[in-house]
Amino acid sequence: MNYDMLLLRFGEFTLKGRNRGRFERAALSQVRALLQSFPRAEMNHEFGRLYIALNGEPYEQMIATLQRVFGIISISPVKVAPLDIGEIAATATALIQELAPAEGTTFKVSARRVWKDFPHSSQEMNHLIGSPVLQAFSALKVDMRHPKLELRVEVRQQGVYVFSEVIPAAGGFPYGTNGKAMLLLSGGIDSPVAAWSSMRRGLEVECVHFYSYPYTSELAKEKVIDLAKVLAGYAGRIKLHLVPFTEIQTSFTRTGQDNMIITLMRRSMLRIATKLAERAGAQAIVTGDSLGQVASQTLSSMNVIGRATELPLLRPLVMMDKSEIIDIAHKIGTYELSILPYEDCCTLFVPKSPTTNPNLGVVERVEASLRELPAMIDQAVEATETLVLEAGGKVLGRKEKPVVREEWF
Ligand code: ATP
Ligand code: MG
Repeated sequence: MNYDMLLLRFGEFTLKGRNRGRFERAALSQVRALLQSFPRAEMNHEFGRLYIALNGEPYEQMIATLQRVFGIISISPVKVAPLDIGEIAATATALIQELAPAEGTTFKVSARRVWKDFPHSSQEMNHLIGSPVLQAFSALKVDMRHPKLELRVEVRQQGVYVFSEVIPAAGGFPYGTNGKAMLLLSGGIDSPVAAWSSMRRGLEVECVHFYSYPYTSELAKEKVIDLAKVLAGYAGRIKLHLVPFTEIQTSFTRTGQDNMIITLMRRSMLRIATKLAERAGAQAIVTGDSLGQVASQTLSSMNVIGRATELPLLRPLVMMDKSEIIDIAHKIGTYELSILPYEDCCTLFVPKSPTTNPNLGVVERVEASLRELPAMIDQAVEATETLVLEAGGKVLGRKEKPVVREEWF
């Protein structure tokens, strides 16, 4: 296909009055960063929209890249015609020729005269463009209500935009425009989805992962790094804090309170994440919990676990079914990594019957009996290793077919 330009539409934040400028600037700077790999592309910003002149850059790869920018709801590849009705009809014909519609494809023209000095009204244009197109393509059948192929024509002073495809993009709020949170990232299916959902709401995310070397392997850690790299493909770059958890975990196993061990571990994870959040200036903690999924995610468990932090605990997946979560994991490219069979520290020493109804008083007494626990928590924070991951790595298992498959930007 032979296009001249991409048209990007901003999402819901355009409604947000005073904040609009800030949101638009954030989305623009993300797009600008991504366009560095397409040096000939030129950006042009207008209210609620962004135009990118291709100047010969590959449009499919650009779309696949820009589809991941939060705050953009859709992208259209556009042909540009001069301000002349004959030229517009010729461009429209060329576009349809390239789209090669099947026999019986329903069709309509939707012209808009944004530049009011253009001599033809929208109605006239619908007719003056539609007639020659219909004559040239007997495969097309007019349908004003629900056409499969809608040929859109926008007349502006700087040129006429002719296009038909409207390709959905990530939507949401531009990355980092709604504050910062620490995200507990395991190697499972859920927490990367929780990360993506938070990022899509405009939250900047720093990931925290707890590992229990040598009980968990180097491969398990690599897997989490790879997951964070996929997330970096949406954020541009992402921090991953790797927290050594072996000592704390083994001290819990020695208490003899097997059925409570997950509760105890989760509470310590939250305490460590809270300290890391204070350092990073983050104002919430995000987890991949989903109500009722496992013993530690009953309402009663969440209640007892959540009391270990004063920060708001955000659980974007709390009301979702596993199948919905898996669908998103496929779509965002984390599923294939998540199902790699490396052990997580929480699957170690897991009791046969973890409690689904922990008692806060008992849990607090066990914690108090571990006099060295606060010091171990501080040590774990001190020994935390932080990686900064730039976008890199491959698109894995995307279910919704991207326009092309390509490397991450
Ligand atoms: P996930 O698929 O995200 O691992 P899960 O359904 O397996 O979730 P759990 O293992 O009970 O559920 O974990 C619940 C949440 O606790 C995770 O979503 C994650 O946010 C956090 N979590 C669990 N293990 C770790 C870990 N090793 N490091 C960091 N966070 C963790
Ligand atoms: Mg897990």
